[in-house]
Amino acid sequence: MSVIMKGTDVAKSMKEELARQAKSLKERGIIPCLSVIRVGARPDDLAYERGARKRMETTGIECRVTELPEDVSQEAFEQTFSRINEDMSVHGILLLRPLPKTLDEEPVRAMIDPLKDVDGMSPVNIAKVFSGDDTGFAPCTAEAVMEMLRYYGIDPQGRKATVLGRSMVVGRPLSMLLMKKNATVTVCHTRTDNLALECRNGQILAAAAGKAGLVTGDLVCEGAVVVDVGINVDSEGNLCGDVDFESVKRKASYISPVPGGVGSVTSSVLAKHVLISAGLR
Ligand code: NAP
Repeated sequence: MSVIMKGTDVAKSMKEELARQAKSLKERGIIPCLSVIRVGARPDDLAYERGARKRMETTGIECRVTELPEDVSQEAFEQTFSRINEDMSVHGILLLRPLPKTLDEEPVRAMIDPLKDVDGMSPVNIAKVFSGDDTGFAPCTAEAVMEMLRYYGIDPQGRKATVLGRSMVVGRPLSMLLMKKNATVTVCHTRTDNLALECRNGQILAAAAGKAGLVTGDLVCEGAVVVDVGINVDSEGNLCGDVDFESVKRKASYISPVPGGVGSVTSSVLAKHVLISAGLR
């Protein structure tokens, strides 16, 4: 029988401490504030924004949303970003990505104040995460996986961890965070030879490929801890992860569901980062 890793329980465990920190900042006259920048109105962006806004409000963090039209010019986009970046009352900036293909993300990644970069997109924070420096903000989803492991008492030290996916948003930073905790990490991608073998080697298997049903029971070793980061829509229009839950749960010791898994923790990590940033003022 595998243990279901419930993101809602993890988020609940973080809630009290986050609210306490927000209150203590307010007592010092600091109102913690997250600024969300959204271009267009993609349904997944809107869903993420709703979740983030709710988490900020329940924590005691102000949440402002700036919506830009999908056809905004690069110049107007950068001007808006720059204005928010320089606003002293803003402690964290969340840029919803991916951006429309007409926009280049690089200039704002270079521009963002690393202290306000609560979702780990600036080269400064990336370098910190990759060099094992805890003072950098990791992308929230990658850190949310580590929060899940921490809550369920799973110590990566000495374990073989396989990360499925090498994006800068999830796979790569997650592999660094696992390595920082002394796991032996293998990172897989579309050119990996014998993906099944690499997956079966993982005592911890984190799936972040964005492919529904990619990880089936035969790709998982007996007793593995399986964390599903994927967010996909299946052929029947339902939300699902990368992991075939039914076949994998028969072999895994721990398994996170989608929905109700990592995604539920991501916004709590975002709140944690905003409070850290506000506390540094
Ligand atoms: P991405 O940029 O598309 O990267 C996907 C990665 O998976 C790539 O490295 C790709 O390899 C690899 N991959 C794709 N198909 C594969 C296959 N069949 N076999 C082996 N590797 C494969 O996606 P992402 O932004 O990292 O997001 C990954 C998933 O996490 C998505 O479902 C996304 O919606 C979800 N997500 C969830 C949260 C959350 O809060 N829970 C947050 C962000 C993202 P190549 O590099 O070779 O192309």
